[in-house]
Amino acid sequence: MTPVERTIRDVVIANRILALNNVLDAYGHVSMRHPERPDRYFLARSVSPAIVDIGDIVEFHLDGTPVDKDERRPLYLERFIHGGVYEKREDVKACLHSHADEILPFSISKTTRLRPVIHAVGDIGENIPVWDIADKFGDDTTLLVTNMDHGRDLAMCLDCNRMALMRGHGFVCVGRSINDLVRISVYIPRNARTQFAAMQMGEYKALSRGEIEARLALDPDAPAMRRGWEYWAKEAGCEHLL
Ligand SMILES: [Zn+2]
Repeated sequence: MTPVERTIRDVVIANRILALNNVLDAYGHVSMRHPERPDRYFLARSVSPAIVDIGDIVEFHLDGTPVDKDERRPLYLERFIHGGVYEKREDVKACLHSHADEILPFSISKTTRLRPVIHAVGDIGENIPVWDIADKFGDDTTLLVTNMDHGRDLAMCLDCNRMALMRGHGFVCVGRSINDLVRISVYIPRNARTQFAAMQMGEYKALSRGEIEARLALDPDAPAMRRGWEYWAKEAGCEHLL
């Protein structure tokens, strides 16, 4: 199997895993950078993640244009999120955009920030910025990232962090590998639910800076960190693609 064939299969597996775990629903998407051409990435055509298959994966230039000029199928309107991030962050190999309900309150709260509060999400980092499309593009947008100006502005807000919330919309998360991205993304809504529940109980304790740094120092593709990928792929009916 070539590196490109492996990458296309991994994009399909990631879609199915993230749908199975309710990180993606009918909307939202996940991509991988091209393994041999860093100026390209792979992302599905406009299909719901739970039913994405190998034939749905499209190769894109970073500006969101399909490499195959004859590509006529509908494409995700918000694919510019991925190009914006890959253009700014050479270290990023995989990128996710999700609308998971659990994180939305933290995207609009003026007083409470999303924090890593459970161990599996420690490597999300200490700073989780909130991108507000209105800051640069005014208060009459659809809130959707529909061009490279939007995508680049979101990537600038993300900066060197693992994740950024998008006000009233969802979040973007990045990974050093697809396994790294999928593992942390499965736990991000669980982390938000835990923080929200703890807030109802009163004061709570988030991970310390030292704990976050210790989690960030772990090898994201060590066997123990890949255990979820294999398990979820089988649960999602993708064992034949591993
Ligand atoms: Zn969206």
